[in-house]
Amino acid sequence: MSAIVVYIDQLDAPGKLSTTVRQLLTLARGAGEPVAVVAGPVAADVLADLGVYGVTRVLYSEQAELGQYLVAPKADLLAQAAAAVSASAVLVDNGAAGKEIAARTAVALNAGVITDAVSVTYDGGTLVAHKSILAGSWTVQAQAVSAVSVISVKAHSVEAGAAAEATSPAVEAVDVAFAPASLGARVVSRTPRAASGRPELEDARIIVAGGRGVDGDFSPIEELADVLGAAVGASRAATDAGWISHASQVGQTGKKVSPQLYISVGISGAIQQKAGMQTSKLIVAVNKDSESPIFEIADFGIVGDLFKVLPQAVEEIKKR
Ligand code: FAD
Repeated sequence: MSAIVVYIDQLDAPGKLSTTVRQLLTLARGAGEPVAVVAGPVAADVLADLGVYGVTRVLYSEQAELGQYLVAPKADLLAQAAAAVSASAVLVDNGAAGKEIAARTAVALNAGVITDAVSVTYDGGTLVAHKSILAGSWTVQAQAVSAVSVISVKAHSVEAGAAAEATSPAVEAVDVAFAPASLGARVVSRTPRAASGRPELEDARIIVAGGRGVDGDFSPIEELADVLGAAVGASRAATDAGWISHASQVGQTGKKVSPQLYISVGISGAIQQKAGMQTSKLIVAVNKDSESPIFEIADFGIVGDLFKVLPQAVEEIKKR
């Protein structure tokens, strides 16, 4: 079986595996021998978790430089570790940093890179990435023709699942040779964003997103998100108006998400909004205009005033 490497960034959140990483490990286990490459120290509970997901080898670097720089040295680690285990594929998460690491790693490995995959299947010896392009009007299946493929996978492309039998992974340190250009930009300070208590957009199983229809008042969206344990998203009209942070924007120029459930509220469904959420597994739309284009892609639509519909939904959910 060939090695399928999963990249795990432990520098920002040491001590726990993200939902996305658990999903990537599940994917890797189905396609070959899952190998974890960890940026930073490997805590004992992380190691145990990696064993739960069937990981056989863990490669890591504790070189202090890794934490002091942006993503480039992490790509050096990933490329050198992937080469060391003769990986046939490298999987990374589809966040902004993940995509940059994917691109840099692919250059270093002379590998094909595929980003924004919404699912990955296995065809004989090769991984096939499925992605949606041109604002969801086409679905593409892509295969790297190089010996190694580097694929960034959107969260929730696969359900995370433990291996039938836990493993005891072998742990090896990698002494990374950094490319001089990798050390060209350095982190001066890190300030964590105030925690909202809600999941991150890219990690969330459920997203409640609001648009211009909320008319400056995101409280119904936030209340529904909180009873569902969901993240809050937004259209560009809402972020441009300053009603919510730009980090919450979903769409062509925002985050590309693929949750189990996307509840679109007061959003018309412009092509640029669809580009970021159309691959969601289930789409529910609340809009007062029955002709709104969002209903063309909604699995379930509610024609009504969001200020009446959402409080009723919150009340019902709280009763359960
Ligand atoms: P509108 O289109 O104004 O829709 C508001 C909706 O709310 C309407 O359908 C209305 O019926 C409904 N509504 C109003 N009141 C209520 C109520 N009380 N109850 C229920 N429904 C109500 N947009 C993005 O979202 N993401 C992007 O990343 C993005 N990138 C872009 C990039 C480019 C280059 C360009 C040109 C545009 C981009 N846009 C993006 C903007 C996009 O074209 C739309 O303008 C935007 O998505 C509209 O946001 P909206 O649906 O919230 O607003």
